[in-house]
Amino acid sequence: MPTSDFETAAPTATPAGDTRPPPVAGTNGGRPGLGAHDGASFTASLADDREVWMEGERVDVTTHPDFQPMLRTLAGLYDRQRSPELGREMTYRSETSGHPVSLSYLPPRTPEELDRKWLNSRHWVEGSHGQISRIPDFMANVAVGLHDFRHALGEVDPEFAENAGRYYLHCRENDLALTHGLGDPQVDRSVTPVQRPELGLRVVHRDDSGIVVRGAKQIATLAPYAHDVLIYLSPANYLREDPAYVCWFGARLDTPGLRILCRRSYHGQPHTLGSRFDEQDAMLVFDDAFIPRDRVFLLADAGTAVKGFHALNRWSLYTGQIRLHHRLRVMLGVASLLAKSIGVDRFREVGALLGELASYVSVVDLALKSITRDATRTKSGLLAPGTTAALDSVAGHFSERASAIVRRIGASGLIMQPAEGDLRAPDLRTALDLYMGGRDTSVEDKSRMFRLAGDLVIDRFGMRQELYEAWNRGDPARVRSALYTTFPDLPGCEAAARVLADLLEHP
Ligand SMILES: Cc1cc2nc3c(=O)[nH]c(=O)nc-3n(C[C@H](O)[C@H](O)[C@H](O)COP(=O)(O)OP(=O)(O)OC[C@H]3O[C@@H](n4cnc5c(N)ncnc54)[C@H](O)[C@@H]3O)c2cc1C
Repeated sequence: MPTSDFETAAPTATPAGDTRPPPVAGTNGGRPGLGAHDGASFTASLADDREVWMEGERVDVTTHPDFQPMLRTLAGLYDRQRSPELGREMTYRSETSGHPVSLSYLPPRTPEELDRKWLNSRHWVEGSHGQISRIPDFMANVAVGLHDFRHALGEVDPEFAENAGRYYLHCRENDLALTHGLGDPQVDRSVTPVQRPELGLRVVHRDDSGIVVRGAKQIATLAPYAHDVLIYLSPANYLREDPAYVCWFGARLDTPGLRILCRRSYHGQPHTLGSRFDEQDAMLVFDDAFIPRDRVFLLADAGTAVKGFHALNRWSLYTGQIRLHHRLRVMLGVASLLAKSIGVDRFREVGALLGELASYVSVVDLALKSITRDATRTKSGLLAPGTTAALDSVAGHFSERASAIVRRIGASGLIMQPAEGDLRAPDLRTALDLYMGGRDTSVEDKSRMFRLAGDLVIDRFGMRQELYEAWNRGDPARVRSALYTTFPDLPGCEAAARVLADLLEHP
């Protein structure tokens, strides 16, 4: 067995341990490795040998100007979790190290612990205004899922269970930000990787020290800002004819042979959402990258990979819906303030659009409450929320309608607004006040609200968010048809239809 590059504290039966608030709030002095990060320790922890590419250049994310705004945004979020105000609601005391660790990593065993987790998620979501889809809270919850699923992994090979347990502890104790890459590169969907091996990530060598993997993964959001990538399979491609393609592992993002190819940056224009919240999306290319044996969680067993996909995502999908809820709340707020600022809020058609948007906010809220009430115990004894399948299948639609409603209400105002420079130009003041202000609204307030709306629903930042909402849970057609085929009340629905059909026999 090779020596591990992560600490090998033995996994315990009750890793949640002492979940009282940590003994001290406050920062960890900018030093990584002392439990929950603050902003300085998070930023310092990204200084490694990762190979990040953007626009044909190899870049250092800790210094490249396009990455600085998002880095500052993330640092601000990590500062919140170590702040005197929120530290006690976002961290708990690790039973292995005594350090405060992130509540995102808490494996919940009681309804109270589940509630504490969701409160922590809300702090992450509100701190990022619902605009960062892959706040680190999301993937930390996938790591909780991996930890929970380790018993099933152990049935394939006891070593996989040990690895998953140790890896979870490593992530928690070091407050790792994770990304994940599930899908194959989008080259030719009409053939399988077995027909064209370069189209799927596969194990090309295995020995006592670990595995060597070759291939690529599309897409890994947050990758340039993350510490590790968790590789597992999406249901779209689990049924591999060749077991070499079934591999789950956790790789450091500075693994030699791993390249992070970023899309072009949305940073550039000041006073835009893209300049603050560009979490980045990347293609991950593995050129014979070596993965140490103790970072491998599953090999070759497609059946376990199928079961595992859902098990791993039980907590993260719920936190994703908490984020969607907040994002829809922001959209409703924006739509309402746009309508009020130009005096159209009292028109019945506009009111109906605003009401439609309010109904989406309300439905997601109601569903979140009911899903957490439906929590069930997993085989390993954790408390997991009920299924988000129905919400997952409508989330893209709700989001698309929310954007369409903002576009419908904002109309030409979404493009015709004075910029910050115009607002500061004395020569333009009279014209701006006369022709670009709003009803009971200053030209400054109106223009900022409309420009925010433009960022959300017509600019590339907003369009990317829209794409994310539609696709991040996988192909929406697959998500919906899976909901239909597993719908628990389907026999009841069909029975009700038959009862009614039988009435036709007896007019
Ligand atoms: C902004 C954004 C961020 C993302 N972040 C992440 C991330 O962090 N991690 C991650 O793992 N994934 C991420 N994803 C990827 C997401 O999981 C995929 O978009 C999704 O699984 C669909 O795959 P695809 O985009 O390759 O589309 P494709 O599979 O190429 O589909 C293209 C079109 O072909 C259709 N199609 C494809 N195959 C079939 C078929 N067999 N039968 C019928 N129709 C078919 C699809 O319905 C679709 O209309 C992200 C996606 C987006 C847009």
